[in-house]
Amino acid sequence: MTTTAPPQVTSTTKVPHHPMWINGAPVDSDEHFEIRSPATEELVATVAKGDTSHIDAAVAAAKASFESGVWRDRTPAERAAVLDAVADRLDARNEELAQLQAMENGAPLRVARWAHIGLPAAQFRHFAELARTYQWVKPAPVLASMSTGGMVRQEPVGVCAAIVPWNVPLQLAVNKVGPALAAGNSVVVKPDEHAPLTVLELAAELERAGLPAGVFNVVTGLGEEVGARLTEHPDVRKIAFTGSTAVGREIMSLASGTVKRVTLELGGKGPNIVLDDISEADMARVVDGCLFAFLTFSGQACESGTRLLLPAALHDDFVERMVRRVADLRIGHPMADDTDLGPVFSRAQRDRILGYIASGLEEGATLACGGKSPAGPQFEQGFWIEPTIFTGVTNDMRIAREEIFGPVVAVIKYETIDEAIAIANDTIYGLSGGVWSSSTDRAVSVAEKIDAGMVWINDFHVLDSRYPFGGMKQSGLGRELGPDALDEYTETKQVTYALGRREDEKPYALLFGIDL
Ligand code: NAD
Repeated sequence: MTTTAPPQVTSTTKVPHHPMWINGAPVDSDEHFEIRSPATEELVATVAKGDTSHIDAAVAAAKASFESGVWRDRTPAERAAVLDAVADRLDARNEELAQLQAMENGAPLRVARWAHIGLPAAQFRHFAELARTYQWVKPAPVLASMSTGGMVRQEPVGVCAAIVPWNVPLQLAVNKVGPALAAGNSVVVKPDEHAPLTVLELAAELERAGLPAGVFNVVTGLGEEVGARLTEHPDVRKIAFTGSTAVGREIMSLASGTVKRVTLELGGKGPNIVLDDISEADMARVVDGCLFAFLTFSGQACESGTRLLLPAALHDDFVERMVRRVADLRIGHPMADDTDLGPVFSRAQRDRILGYIASGLEEGATLACGGKSPAGPQFEQGFWIEPTIFTGVTNDMRIAREEIFGPVVAVIKYETIDEAIAIANDTIYGLSGGVWSSSTDRAVSVAEKIDAGMVWINDFHVLDSRYPFGGMKQSGLGRELGPDALDEYTETKQVTYALGRREDEKPYALLFGIDL
C-alpha cells in the first residue's frame, strides 16, 4: 500500500459559518457545531445548532407554502424546469462542491466529483423527466351498475421530511427532495449535524433556480432532539429516512403516533458471491471488482459488498491476489487526485471499526492484511484504517453479521452454490448483493435466489437514477429513484361523479336496501 502526503494547507484566520435555511432565509442560532476535516482534524467550518423551535418554524413555513399553492399549483413542466435548472447549477459548481464534500466528510475528491455531486445533478434531471411523464390523472372505467364514472388522481402528500446521514449527504437528500418537489410537495431536511454543508448549498441553489420561499427548508441539529421532533411533528405527512437500522426502527415507532407515510433506507451486510467458473482472463477484473465492492469511500457505503463468499477451489489464490492488489492502493489525503482511499469519517467511526477488527480476531478469524491505522506522520492526525481482509470467517461471527461501515471485508469459504446462497441470505439485512461469473446464465440463476433489493452481476455499486434503490428485510421499506419514484411522494385519490341516472335506477336506495 502506497501513501500520499496531504497537499499544503493554507491557514485561514476565520472559518466560514453556515446558518440554517428556513422560509427562504438564513437562520442562525446561539450555539454552533464544529465541522472538522476527518483527514487533519482541522476546523473547516461551523454550523448553526438548531433545536425543536427551528423544526416547528421550518414545518410551519413548509405547510404555509404548500397550502398557498405557490409550488403545488405550478404545472409539472414548470416544476421540472426548476429541477433541471438546479441540476445545471450543481454541474457548474461540481469542483467547488466536491472539494467542500471532501473537506467535510473525507470522501476522496475523485469519488466526490462523481458520486457526491455529479450523481445528485443526474438525479434531479431524472425527477424532472418523471414530473413531465408521470400519469397524474388516470381515467377510471364507467360503472354502469352504479351510474358512476370518474378518475384516479395522484396528488402531492403535503409536508415531507427527509433525514439523511453523513456519508453521501447530498445524493441521499436529493433522492428524497427531488421526487418530493417534482410532485409538488414542500420539504424539510435534517442532515447529519457534522456533514450538512452540501445540503445547505442546495438550499441556495434551489432558491436561485426559482423555488418559492418556504418550499425547501434545512434544519441542522441533533438526531435524537431535532430529528425526533421532525419525525413526530403532526403537520409532517411523510418521513423519508436514510441511516442505521437501529434509528430506522425508532423512526417507524415515532412516526406511528401520527400514522405518517414512511420510507426507510437502512443498513446492509451485502453478500458478494464469486462462482467457481472465473476464467484466468477474467480473474484480475473480478479481484478488482470485489475490492471496489467493499473499499469504495473506505467502506462507508450502505450497499457495500462486505461478505465475500469464495469457492473453496479458488479461495487461496483469490485472497493472495487481493492482498497483492491492496498493496498498490494509495491511502491519502482526500484532496489529492491520486488518492484511492481517504480517512474514515470520525474518531468514533474509527474506534468502532477497530473494535470490530478486535472482535474478529477474538472470534478466530485471520487477518490477511490491514487491521490497524496506517503508520506515518501524515496519519498522526485524522482517522485512518488500512484496507482489511479477514479470512477464516464463519457467518455467525460479529464481523459477518453486523454492519462495520469501514474498509473491512469478511471472506467466507463455501463448497456448493446452495451453501453460498444459504449463507448470503442468513442475515437480517437485504440491501445489496453481487455475483461474479464467466457465465451470465449461472450468475442470473444465483441472483434470483438472493434476498436483496439490488443484485449486481460482474459489477457493484451500480447507481443509476433509472434503477430503484432500496432494500428488503431490515434494510428498509420502499424504494428511491427508479421509474416509480413519484409514487412514494403522492397520494392516490379517486374522484367519481354520478352520471345521468336512468329513470329505472335507484343506486343509493339499492345500496342501503331501502324500497323507495
Ligand atoms: P444514523 O442512523 O446514526 O443517523 C442518520 C441520521 O439520523 C442523522 O441525521 C442523525 O442525526 C439522525 N438521527 C439519529 N437519531 C435520530 C432519532 N432518534 N430520530 C430522528 N433522527 C435521528 O446513521 P449514521 O451512522 O449517520 O449513518 C450510517 C448508517 O446509514 C449506516 O447504517 C448505513 O448503512 C446507513 N445508510 C444507508 C443507506 C441506504 O440507502 N440504505 C445509505 C447510506 C447510509
